[in-house]
Amino acid sequence: MTDQDHTEGAQTAASMGFDTLAIRAGQDHDPTTGAVIPPLHVSSTYAQDGIGGLRNGYEYGRSANPTRSALQQQLAALEGGRFGLSFASGLAAEDALLRAALTPGDAVLMGNDVYGGTHRLVDKILGPWGVGLRIVDMTDAEAVRASLQQSPAQVLWVETPSNPLMGVADIAELVRIGHEAGALVVVDNTFASPALQRPLLLGADVVVHSTTKYLGGHSDVVGGAIVTNDAALAEKVEFQQFAAGAISGPHDAFLTTRGLKTLAIRMERHSANAGLIAGFLDRHDTVRTVYYPGLESHPGHALARSQMSGFGGMVSLALADGATARRFAESLRLFTLAESLGGVESLVNYPDAMTHASVRGTELAVPEEVVRLSVGIETVEDLLSDLERALDAL
Ligand SMILES: *Cc1c(COP(=O)(O)O)cnc(C)c1O
Repeated sequence: MTDQDHTEGAQTAASMGFDTLAIRAGQDHDPTTGAVIPPLHVSSTYAQDGIGGLRNGYEYGRSANPTRSALQQQLAALEGGRFGLSFASGLAAEDALLRAALTPGDAVLMGNDVYGGTHRLVDKILGPWGVGLRIVDMTDAEAVRASLQQSPAQVLWVETPSNPLMGVADIAELVRIGHEAGALVVVDNTFASPALQRPLLLGADVVVHSTTKYLGGHSDVVGGAIVTNDAALAEKVEFQQFAAGAISGPHDAFLTTRGLKTLAIRMERHSANAGLIAGFLDRHDTVRTVYYPGLESHPGHALARSQMSGFGGMVSLALADGATARRFAESLRLFTLAESLGGVESLVNYPDAMTHASVRGTELAVPEEVVRLSVGIETVEDLLSDLERALDAL
């Protein structure tokens, strides 16, 4: 890679703890002023010492920017990968990855509860360019094996826990199955974040993020990332980043870096609050089903316990029917009715008509009685009273 020095995070990753890396990787103080926080570099272009005489490889803002390089190092270090690349959004990252990895005639095998935008990207954008799409239950490893034996897929797309039904897929097992069939195994790690789950260490080839969610963590920046140990693939994705141009801008990169420094401590609180809320909902008569991998009754509980170090902040619940679910989502006060997730503030989403409206009527449709909560890091008693009041009024 032309930009190798700026994106490699492996050396630091091998020797330091997660929280140290979150705060220190790519964050050396500024050599000219001693500024402890590396400056936000907004320049779109760089002075050359004679024609072609670049300083540290910096030439033009689309090809490389020091603030983006710092974020990329931090991302790589946190996922335990060698190469990190950041993009303007999660979907821009996915698009760059898929166009780097696939050629017309290839196919992607993905879960039946994958993020709706990922499905739409492959179905509506890459489909017309000749990329096939197949859907399977990713929590059923045998079904995945059978599908790959029946017909090849060049990319196996795993998302765990899944959105919004919190299905847990066995990363290590799917890596074995995918590799046996010659597929590139990609894990969308947005829901867990590297603080709770590190797919590259379980053998996955690539990790994808919407950094808009837990990594940024404050609902104030949209972004995406790819992390991998595969140098040849990283070079291709980096070429997509440079040649197609869906880079993260310096202000976005700076905010994401700032958010990442507190990722581990935020995830601890998200998980603690969500655990208490899931337990409360599970005991409430009005709630039909609670989808949270931290509950012992969840079918993926044992697996989540073994491949994650916490259960995360996302909780979904099913009420009596669609109308009740809508009423509940609209009557919460502290949980803001909004799309997205992973910020410090609690949000409520009605998937059928909001985040998952694009997959209505497909195999990925979300049952209309389901409501999704992104549990924030507020005082948990306040969140519990809001939920209790809304449930009791139904
Ligand atoms: C939000 C999200 C995406 C897409 O990311 P954007 O930043 O919105 O483009 C992809 N995967 C998952 C699991 C998400 O939640």
